[in-house]
Amino acid sequence: MGMGRELDVVVVGARCAGATFGAFAAQAGKRVLVVDADDMPSDQPLSTHFIGMYGMSILDELGVGHRVRAVAPPVRFIRNGVDDAVITIDFGDERGGACIRRIDLDPMLVEEARARGAAVELKTSLVDVLRQDGRVVGAVIERDGAREEVRARWVVGADGRHSKLASLVGAEEYLAYDAPRAAFWAYWRRPEWFSADPSYDNNVTILHLEHDYLMVFPVNKDEVLVGVAVPLDRASEWRGRHEAFYLEQLRARPFVARFPDGERRSKVVSFVKGRYFFRRAAGPGWALVGDAGLFKDFTPGFGITDAFRDARALAQAIEGGSDAHLERYWRVRDVESVELFAFARMLGTPGYNNALNRAAFRAIAERRDLQARIIAFHERKLSPFALIPSGTAIGLLLGELFRGRFDAFPTFVDAVKEGGRSAKELRHRKALAASVAQLP
Ligand SMILES: Cc1cc2nc3c(=O)[nH]c(=O)nc-3n(C[C@H](O)[C@H](O)[C@H](O)COP(=O)(O)OP(=O)(O)OC[C@H]3O[C@@H](n4cnc5c(N)ncnc54)[C@H](O)[C@@H]3O)c2cc1C
Repeated sequence: MGMGRELDVVVVGARCAGATFGAFAAQAGKRVLVVDADDMPSDQPLSTHFIGMYGMSILDELGVGHRVRAVAPPVRFIRNGVDDAVITIDFGDERGGACIRRIDLDPMLVEEARARGAAVELKTSLVDVLRQDGRVVGAVIERDGAREEVRARWVVGADGRHSKLASLVGAEEYLAYDAPRAAFWAYWRRPEWFSADPSYDNNVTILHLEHDYLMVFPVNKDEVLVGVAVPLDRASEWRGRHEAFYLEQLRARPFVARFPDGERRSKVVSFVKGRYFFRRAAGPGWALVGDAGLFKDFTPGFGITDAFRDARALAQAIEGGSDAHLERYWRVRDVESVELFAFARMLGTPGYNNALNRAAFRAIAERRDLQARIIAFHERKLSPFALIPSGTAIGLLLGELFRGRFDAFPTFVDAVKEGGRSAKELRHRKALAASVAQLP
C-alpha cells in the first residue's frame, strides 16, 4: 500500500456535487484531490437534464455557463399542467435554464475543478477511511488494484445516493421514504416540426395526464428527451418489458405520439426503485454533498441545482475550517431544503392530478401575479408552499366544491397538512441551525 500524500480535502465523486465542490474549494486555496470510480467523459445515465435559472447562475459564477449554453441552447419556457389545465411560464431569453446531457456537463465541471487547481483522479475508488481518535483523517483509495492512503483534514462524499462514505461513517437517514413512481425515458433525434412549433421549441414540458406524467426536454442541440413517469405498481406489471411499455405509453399520448419511428437514439433508461432521504451531512472530519446527503423526488428537477448550491456552501464551510462550520453547513442545508423536499414529494405522488390542482393551474394560466410567483420560486425567493396564497387557495376550493367536485376537499386538507408539517419541520431545522450559529 502506497503512503504519502497530505491534503486539505479528499472528495469522492467528480460530478455535479464533487467537481463543483472541488472547483470552489481549490479556488479558496485548499489542496484538493477529487477521485471518481468512473472515467470521463462518461454519462450519469440515471438523470434527466433540466437545470433551472438558479443552477445556471451558479454555473455562470463558475465560468462554465456560456459553455453549457453553447451545447444546450437556453430553455425559455416551462410548460406544466394537469390534463387540459396547462400553463406556460415565460422566463425571458436566457433565464429559463438549459438541458445539457451529463456526458457533456460533468467533464466541463471536472475541467473547471482542474483549472482552479484541484487534482482529479479518475477510475479511482474510495474503499475505506482512515480514522484517529474518533475522527476521519483520510481516505484509502484504489486504482487498478493498487491502494493508497491519503491523509486529509476532511473527506467529502459527493458519491451519489448509494454513497460509500455515508455507509463507512454511518451517516443516519431521516425523513426518508420509498419513491412512489418509476420513470422511463429515451433520446430522440429532434424532429423539424419540433423546432418549428413554438409549443415544443424552447420548452421544458412536464404534463400530468391522469396519474402518469410526461417529460419532454430539448436536450443539447439536436435531441429531445421524451420520458414518462408512472406509479410504481404499474411499472412492476411491466418488469422486463420496459422498452415495449415505454413505446406504448408514448403512442397513447397525443402530445408525444409524433416522435418518428426509427429516430430513437438510445435505449430506454429506467429508474424504478428509488428511496428519497436526508442524511446527516457532517461529522468529525467528513461531510456529504449532493445526492450522497440528500436525494429528493426528481419531479421538480432541482437535484443538480441543489448539488451546485450545496457544493458552494460546503466549500465556504471548509474555508471556515472548524467542525462547527461544517455542522452549520449541514443544518443550513436542511433549512434550505426541507420545504422543497416536501413539495417534491407532493409533486411526485400519483394523486397529484386532482380537482384542486387542476383549478390551481387554470388560475395560474389566467393570472400574471401567480406566474410571477413561479419565477420567484425558481429564483429561490419564494417558498414552494407560498406559490398559491392561502386566500386564493380557499377561493379555488370553494369554487370546486360549488361545482360538485368534492375530491378537491381531501386534497386541500392534505396540502394544508403537508404545508403545516413542513413549516413545523422548518422551524425545528432553523432552531438546530441557530444552535450552531455562534461560531468562533
Ligand atoms: C430519474 C431521475 C431524473 C432526474 N432528473 C433531474 C433533472 O431533470 N434535473 C435535476 O436537476 N436533477 C435531476 N435528477 C437528480 C440528479 O440526477 C442528481 O441530483 C445529481 O446527479 C446529483 O449529482 P451528484 O454529483 O451528487 O451525484 P452523481 O451524479 O450520482 O455522481 C456520483 C459520482 O460518485 C462516484 N462514486 C460513487 N461511489 C464511489 C466510490 N466509492 N469511489 C469513487 N467514486 C465513487 C460515481 O462514479 C459518480 O460519478 C434526476 C434524478 C433521477 C433519478
